[in-house]
Amino acid sequence: MTEPSIFTRILNGEIPAEILGETDRVFALRDIAPQAPVHLLVIPKTAEYRDVVELAAGDPSLLAEMVAFAQELAATHTDDGDFRLVFNTGETVGQTVFHVHAHVLAGDLQEGTLAS
Ligand code: AMP
Repeated sequence: MTEPSIFTRILNGEIPAEILGETDRVFALRDIAPQAPVHLLVIPKTAEYRDVVELAAGDPSLLAEMVAFAQELAATHTDDGDFRLVFNTGETVGQTVFHVHAHVLAGDLQEGTLAS
């Protein structure tokens, strides 16, 4: 059996984190190592999908729900509602958690791994 992901452990209350919002199927956190003035994560509650490619193939409606939730978060956490959505897909581009998640970035986006 594989270890639960860090996000599953947060969802289960095993690791403290501020959950910014949730629906039946997704939840949102503030990234612990922000790379932009607003850097949030939108995460499906299920750990079934390791990346966005698997998610799009397996449950496109859940992917659509993540995008809609990202928009709601941006509306709350930014002045203008604009945001950048990033899905790292694969280790060589920086994916470290293999439980699909979207980075929601906003504010003054500087050069950087996710923001450029
Ligand atoms: P990625 O590198 O695309 O897989 O994204 C994983 C993200 O999870 C990184 O931006 C981390 O900073 C973030 N992260 C890791 N642990 C935590 C945590 N305990 N709370 C919030 N964000 C976290």
